[in-house]
Amino acid sequence: MTTIKASCPTCGDVELTVGDVTVRVCAADNTGSYAFQCPMCRLAVVKDAENRIVDLLVASGVRLDVWALPAELFEPKTGAPINHDDLLDFHELLQRPDWFDRLSLSFHSGDH
Ligand SMILES: [Zn+2]
Repeated sequence: MTTIKASCPTCGDVELTVGDVTVRVCAADNTGSYAFQCPMCRLAVVKDAENRIVDLLVASGVRLDVWALPAELFEPKTGAPINHDDLLDFHELLQRPDWFDRLSLSFHSGDH
């Protein structure tokens, strides 16, 4: 069985099996890290891992966990941020019985 040497901040070098370690890679920028629980003190340890370390760990059978940032982060943001005047306009708009129709209309046509 493959043993993996890692270091715990408290206990120093510890030996782990592939089942003790999880590798996480961020899908957006490909940065990797690995996490394990120290077999001596049970401390959860997370460390950054270079791509070659990630490859090495995955090749020895460590579970790979790919995670992604929320898609909203990559949505294009156009136009100015809302300000106090926009908020007041919106508040006034909400006083009108037809606010929803007017809002959908201005939303679709793009002019206010
Ligand atoms: Zn430890």
